[in-house]
Amino acid sequence: MRTTGPGLPGQELPGPELPGRTDMPDYEAEYQPVQAPLRQALGLTARQAGLLAKLEITTPLDLLRHVPFRYEDWTELVPLASLSDGELAVFRARIAGTPTVRRRGRLSTVRVKLADETATIGAIWFNQPWLAEKLEPGAHAVFRGRIRRTGGRFEVTNPAIESLGDGNVAETAYLHPVYPLTAGLTRQQLERFIGAALTRFGELIPEALPAELRRRHRLADVAYAYRIIHQPPDGEQLAAARRRLAFEELFMLQTGLALLRRTNERGARALPLLLDEAGLGRYRAVVTALPFAPTRAQQRVANEIYLDLTRTRPMARLVQGDVGSGKTLVAALAMLQAVLCGHQAVLMAPTAVLALQHERTLRQLLGDKARILLLTGSTPAGERRTILREIRTGDCDIVVGTHAVIEDRVVFRSLALAVTDEQHRFGVRQRLRLAGGEEGQESETTVPHVLVMSATPIPRTLGLILYGDLDISRIDEMPAGRQPVMTYTVSDRTLARAWALLRRELESGAQGFVVCPTIRAGEEEGRRSVEATYEELSSGPFADRRVGLLHGDLPAKEKAAVMDSFMGGEVELLVATTVIEVGIDQPNATVMLIMDADRFGLAQLHQLRGRIGRGERRSFCLLHSEREDETARARLTTLCRTTDGFEIAEADLQMRGPGDFFGTRQHGLPRLRVANLYEDASLLQEAQQASAELLERDPGLQDPANRRIRPALHRLFGLEQAQMGL
Ligand code: ADP
Ligand code: MG
Repeated sequence: MRTTGPGLPGQELPGPELPGRTDMPDYEAEYQPVQAPLRQALGLTARQAGLLAKLEITTPLDLLRHVPFRYEDWTELVPLASLSDGELAVFRARIAGTPTVRRRGRLSTVRVKLADETATIGAIWFNQPWLAEKLEPGAHAVFRGRIRRTGGRFEVTNPAIESLGDGNVAETAYLHPVYPLTAGLTRQQLERFIGAALTRFGELIPEALPAELRRRHRLADVAYAYRIIHQPPDGEQLAAARRRLAFEELFMLQTGLALLRRTNERGARALPLLLDEAGLGRYRAVVTALPFAPTRAQQRVANEIYLDLTRTRPMARLVQGDVGSGKTLVAALAMLQAVLCGHQAVLMAPTAVLALQHERTLRQLLGDKARILLLTGSTPAGERRTILREIRTGDCDIVVGTHAVIEDRVVFRSLALAVTDEQHRFGVRQRLRLAGGEEGQESETTVPHVLVMSATPIPRTLGLILYGDLDISRIDEMPAGRQPVMTYTVSDRTLARAWALLRRELESGAQGFVVCPTIRAGEEEGRRSVEATYEELSSGPFADRRVGLLHGDLPAKEKAAVMDSFMGGEVELLVATTVIEVGIDQPNATVMLIMDADRFGLAQLHQLRGRIGRGERRSFCLLHSEREDETARARLTTLCRTTDGFEIAEADLQMRGPGDFFGTRQHGLPRLRVANLYEDASLLQEAQQASAELLERDPGLQDPANRRIRPALHRLFGLEQAQMGL
């Protein structure tokens, strides 16, 4: 999707109409060499090209942008006499003797003595018999490996070797890049490809940052930066290269966001929602009649929204709140305000299940104050016609439905407010719609106020960066009386205990969930499916209980029926996919078992867990995983330790890294490869400032010196859109 071919302009970054785009063809031409198909460019075999494609590398530029995620330090050479047990050491030594090879079946060991002026140690390699021929007695090399002390002697196991065979080993002391790899592609191969790409294409990468900007911020040029990031001669130069590439990413990110923000402020008008005495009285009556007292956070956020809505400047506000923090009430009050002013409101949800849930909640909260209708893909045609007519005539005050259905075909009489419940999804498309960058259903004179609800808790500073184009409200307080969910991990071995706990809860009158990652057996290697688990449980350990099955492929009617019986208490145990993540509010549910929990992101697990612990009783969440590795364990343990969504989000971000974070598409922004939003906070500030200054001086990016910025943005954000299948 990256190359657009000659003469075909790519997708544009929608937004303000920026003049001066005559440089587009130039730009494409400049990029042609580094955007050529990699296989021809480097003379690769089909297999090699295929392996690289798995890493999303299909052009020389992709290859150069595939930067190391860390470096091994090969610069600190230590004398053999100063080694200590357990240390990861790099040393220069002479091969002092003839290697011996021992084979046992398919296993083999190679042993040899290594020496420098200070001492001698043994080296051992497992299953690399070919090494014996390369280890020439008397030759020098640099070795890197873990030191062990066995029986009073030092030994190094499976050390990596640099520069066997050529004399000058001093030059091999350097920072050794470590890359993301894929099965079948070795580190050496990848390094070779990158080396070739650097030689042939390194100097051809167009410089996107204006010279003046680079001078002022002391930024290296792009060719240097890519060479050094792959082959750093020392730490200082590496830092300079990293800084340059990170700066560019952050600068482009900020500039892209600034353009989105600018579109927001283009001077569109919204309907000001000012309540008269009578309206205010009705509004207060709804608040007084609530079955609970709103939390302070809910009050604060509701007030912020209330004031926003009284203005003619269109609201573009994001409400962030952990699962169960009570975002729906805040949205309901905003919609009430619109209705009491004689206008309409719409609430859009990502799934039909969630839309249904919202419709019910709104009816409960708003009672007879508004006529509320539900419109989803499964609304029968006849009914749909009636609903659409009512929306057009204004008989219907509030429409609740799925994005797809509402966006496609609804015409309102007077739409004042659009609320979207994004849960975890919030893409570029949504942002652009917020920015008014796309055709909506609004009348010609005004645009609706927009409110987005998100259950993805992100740290505050990160929020400012990611949602710099929106105003943000946070509901950072849970309704009183919530008990934190007790969370444990289980494995296949301890699964029986999990069944016992589930059974105990059901027997005491509570309800529960079993969540599986896939729908059908065999869909994904070794992953549990709801269908198989449902069969197993309803015929085995839970044959005597009422078990229900819920997943996205069921017909809408069936889904609604299952949900109804779970909500009504007939179904005691619901075996489901993550469809329940968005929508089921059953305070009587006290236990959730998540199978293959390592399959899910932390934020998603947190969201799933939010389905329980909504009532008075203590609740339990069991995270099943067969993975033994430490990373998987550490991730799940985070959830056992805390229920604070913001803390979990931070842990998720740190453990997966910002690349993955952005890669999840959650935020609809380009992926960062070099910059780290945590570690590069001060660089981010610098980039932010630089971006603001540049846009101040050259708002249309017309200056020839800035000519490559807009196409770079277009490439960056446009690419993300393409990846998102928009
Ligand atoms: P979310 O933010 O996850 O969308 P909801 O709006 O669905 O949360 O609210 C979760 C549950 O908490 C609902 O059952 C709702 O009725 C209840 N609730 C909301 N606000 C309060 C409050 N202030 N006190 C007690 N319960 C509340
Ligand atoms: Mg919600």
